[in-house]
Amino acid sequence: MSPQQVTLAVPLHCPKCLASGWAQLHRNHRGTTIALEWQCENCKHRWQATLDHLVREPESQSSSTSAGREPELLREISSLREANEDLRASAVRWRQLYDGAIGRIASDDSDSPANDTTH
Ligand SMILES: [Zn+2]
Repeated sequence: MSPQQVTLAVPLHCPKCLASGWAQLHRNHRGTTIALEWQCENCKHRWQATLDHLVREPESQSSSTSAGREPELLREISSLREANEDLRASAVRWRQLYDGAIGRIASDDSDSPANDTTH
């Protein structure tokens, strides 16, 4: 059996003030052990981090939490792809400018003085 990392799902709401997104994990040292506690940064309420918050990675893949996170990930990927397309488009543009400049110089060089066709 491979060692399992302790992964806790962050509580969505503070049980006291119901503010969402304020929960921070804190360590409560008790001698040689450390208890984990959530603290609401909004109202400073503290409550125990329990094994109910444990996330078992292999089983959570088809759960609603990972499914809910998927559109966000897809959006991020598509935005990254857009940024990449922008970069590629500008790179192509620069490349064309560069090739145009080089081509002009090259054609000027390669053209024999006798071959005096204007472009
Ligand atoms: Zn609170």
